[in-house]
Amino acid sequence: MVTSKIGIEVIDAHAHFITYDVIKEWFSDPERLKQAQQRVAYRTDMTELNIPDEPWDTGELWIQELDKYGISAIGMMIGPESWDEFIEARKRHPRRFMGYANINPASDDAVEVVKRAGLEKFQGIKLYPSSWEFPIYDKRVYPVFEEAVKQKLLVILHFGITIGSKANLRFGNPLDIQKPAQDFPELNFMIAHFGAGFFREILMLFYQTNNVVVDSSGSNSWMQYLPYDLTVTKVFEKSLKAGGACRIVFGTDSSFFPRGFRYNILEEQYNAVKSLCPQLCYSEEDVDLIFRGNILRLTGFKP
Ligand SMILES: [Zn+2]
Repeated sequence: MVTSKIGIEVIDAHAHFITYDVIKEWFSDPERLKQAQQRVAYRTDMTELNIPDEPWDTGELWIQELDKYGISAIGMMIGPESWDEFIEARKRHPRRFMGYANINPASDDAVEVVKRAGLEKFQGIKLYPSSWEFPIYDKRVYPVFEEAVKQKLLVILHFGITIGSKANLRFGNPLDIQKPAQDFPELNFMIAHFGAGFFREILMLFYQTNNVVVDSSGSNSWMQYLPYDLTVTKVFEKSLKAGGACRIVFGTDSSFFPRGFRYNILEEQYNAVKSLCPQLCYSEEDVDLIFRGNILRLTGFKP
């Protein structure tokens, strides 16, 4: 067992494996880089976004970060262009990386990619409906769900507000997953960032479904865009009361270097959960579920 800097075993269930080549490619257009830097400055807690001078080994950088903070393992969203480098990194460190393949159901090979993700021992797939032309309950997505069942993959979903400038929030409502969750009781669905603004809908889904969980990842800056005041502690409190500890999965949404692993998020969320435990009668086991156990149950991963 690895003990993290906060004193318990921790698995980060939500991060992004972004390679040097991908960043280079994204921001080779100076206009695009400028826009991204502006968005980052206004809408996230990231202090900088620069094109790195030197190529890096993404896998080794992440292992250094995980070791620095004592994090047992990390779950990575993998785009098609990062796939090979991720597989290489995982070969070197098989117990540290979980992989979730980004899937766009509109592309012809979507089902093929889900199958490949399963065969290559990924733990999940990631779907991003607000970047599509149709909602997640559209019949075009059902073959993706069917293959995810066959491959025993966790389905991770981004609903709510997003840094993506062209996102269509009409397809970003988490309630859209209720029907697929009913139709695929054998699948588990994990909604990122407590629903990123659709927090009321998340709490209702806890009531209405059995196979939907949330991840806590990121700075949860969506709280600023609600018409009432919330804090991270309040978000955990409401989620614990409505869903219980077994439906909250810790994540950081770490992505870029030099920022690396977002330890500040781990610290903030751990302190929030610990402050609630006595008053809500939660135990050490519940804390362990949130910061480690739930994601292992949902993916079958063994760190
Ligand atoms: Zn993310």
